[in-house]
Amino acid sequence: MAKKKCPYNVILISVDAVASPDAESFLALPAFKHFTERGCFTDNVNTVYPTITYPIHTSAITGKYPESHSIAHNEPWQPDVNDKMRKWYWAVKDIGTRTLWHAAREKKLSVASLLWPVSGKATGVIKWDFPEVLPLPGEVPVIKMMQYASKLWLAVTELRYSKFRQGLGRCSMDDYMALLCEKLIEKKNYPDLITVHFADTDDTRHNKGVGTEEDKAAILRMDRRVQRLIDAVKKRGIEDRTVFAVMSDHGQQNIEKGYIPLDAKLCDAKLGRAHSLGMGAYIYADDLEKTRAFLEENSSELHIKYILKNEELRKIRAPKEVVLAVQAEDGYGYVDRNCECDHLGDHGFGLEAPGAKTLLWLVGGPFKKGVKIGGADIVDIAPTIAEVMGLAMDDCDGKAISEAFEKPLD
Ligand SMILES: [Zn+2]
Repeated sequence: MAKKKCPYNVILISVDAVASPDAESFLALPAFKHFTERGCFTDNVNTVYPTITYPIHTSAITGKYPESHSIAHNEPWQPDVNDKMRKWYWAVKDIGTRTLWHAAREKKLSVASLLWPVSGKATGVIKWDFPEVLPLPGEVPVIKMMQYASKLWLAVTELRYSKFRQGLGRCSMDDYMALLCEKLIEKKNYPDLITVHFADTDDTRHNKGVGTEEDKAAILRMDRRVQRLIDAVKKRGIEDRTVFAVMSDHGQQNIEKGYIPLDAKLCDAKLGRAHSLGMGAYIYADDLEKTRAFLEENSSELHIKYILKNEELRKIRAPKEVVLAVQAEDGYGYVDRNCECDHLGDHGFGLEAPGAKTLLWLVGGPFKKGVKIGGADIVDIAPTIAEVMGLAMDDCDGKAISEAFEKPLD
């Protein structure tokens, strides 16, 4: 076996759209039970505001709150562009700050990343990169991917393995990522760091709702994918030197009452614009006081649960450019002008929601075994992995989760 430059290789798995209300279901599943028995677990990880996928994953991989990175939303604000035509943040340069991937590369370690948000065009940083990039209508998926992924590796994997891919839907893509992960683990020089994002659960919950039969089936599929990675590590004979970190980003809630056209209402009143976060929205306006007064006066018609003013947004370390925002009452979401939304489940709720407490397993290497730890913050994930791998990530907002380590940290 090739000599490795760090004490442990790490596989960071993100399971999208599950949170503390799902803990019981996950702890009963074989792969997650295996992790719980062999490592540390908590269902009390504070996610960040906004509770949507790209800002949260960026906070996990940078160790910084959204106030200190550039990913304020899944997508740059594109008012009046239909949501199906909107570009998202796909390139690693969009983050605007150092990541765990950079820290690993600086130590000359090898990095692979599969469907992780905001990881595209990472030449020189991520060696094996299959980023999350959504082709827009009219674009050819493979050509689009070529612009953002590790080109040669993508070409080789497409030739060898694309026949095993059942389709381009999220469930099939997650299965395909599990396969690519297995192939990476089998390599003589397997990656020192793998980050992989499975989002079958997010997709299913948006389209079918939380607690449905389809949702339960998606959770079972997630367990089977994670089991494949556990088995691949065992088969490769690197169990003793492999650390698994499994995180989630946010839960979902059912949208029983529908979507409110908040953006269109503000436009009609000539009081600014709203940018939907699902169950919340950013508000952009020239006259903030006037717009806030309008939102307060019309809060019952607009189903506003509460308004987040500048001082509250600063306290929760929201993206710097956001100075006014709203949260919807339970069961409601917001939709932008010229967009449609028929999701049965959604997120973007406030940090007080049960779905804002997420799940984390830390398994193997220096971590305690069979212990439930008190809690952590999403921004602790990068510094915790940096600690395991001996990487320098000193400028994080978060810190290594000392409670999870067998030996006290310095
Ligand atoms: Zn998500």
